Amino acid sequence: MSNANKSLTNFFKKNEFIGSFQSYRDIKKKLSTNDCCFIGRSNVGKSSIINSITRQKNLAKTSKTPGRTQSINIFLINDQINLVDLPGYGYAKISKVMRNNLGTLIQDYIENQSELIHTYVLIDAKVGVKNSDIDMFDLLNESDRYFSIIFTKIDKCSKSYLSDLEKSMQSLMKSYSKNFNKFFFTSTKKFEGIIDIQKDIYTLSKQK
Ligand code: GDP
Repeated sequence: MSNANKSLTNFFKKNEFIGSFQSYRDIKKKLSTNDCCFIGRSNVGKSSIINSITRQKNLAKTSKTPGRTQSINIFLINDQINLVDLPGYGYAKISKVMRNNLGTLIQDYIENQSELIHTYVLIDAKVGVKNSDIDMFDLLNESDRYFSIIFTKIDKCSKSYLSDLEKSMQSLMKSYSKNFNKFFFTSTKKFEGIIDIQKDIYTLSKQK
């Protein structure tokens, strides 16, 4: 591992679970640092990504324990930036009432959290973009939030499929050009693309 990557690893190794909150209004932070948040459809691979970024096997597992799946989970990285794990959306098997509650929780956070500086929207590369993802891009755009897209589980896709996906997504992102930043192509199985996300978050942590 290069020295630069070693320092990145050390930066992310210093992390702490701050808490699980039912609403953005309930959030109590340890330090008043900025947030970057992670969002995506259920089963997209969000916990795996958070665990890979922090090099902790079970950090994001906390958010999967019963009662915590529908809440906002916050991890403080190196006392400099909060990594915020928002609940998964678009899960067909939950009731409509629950879906509405989740929608409100996510929307409230995105619209109102003044310290939110970047959102990572996770998309399963093989599944592609669904209507609920488009709703999320629209919400981010309307709330004037910067965002990037993390494609997950790319080990399941061929190179040519991924290249077509990138082209079609580039075209879709023309509608969001004011707020869209970039794509990340990742696989936690093969530890691909994770360092690029770490570098991105590290850069964000220096933003005042
Ligand atoms: P979450 O519900 O969004 O937190 O998703 P998880 O991180 O729990 O992952 C959902 C499923 O996808 C699990 O079975 C993981 O093992 C699998 N998964 C996650 N990341 C990858 C990946 O990079 N490649 C493959 N092939 N499977 C993955």
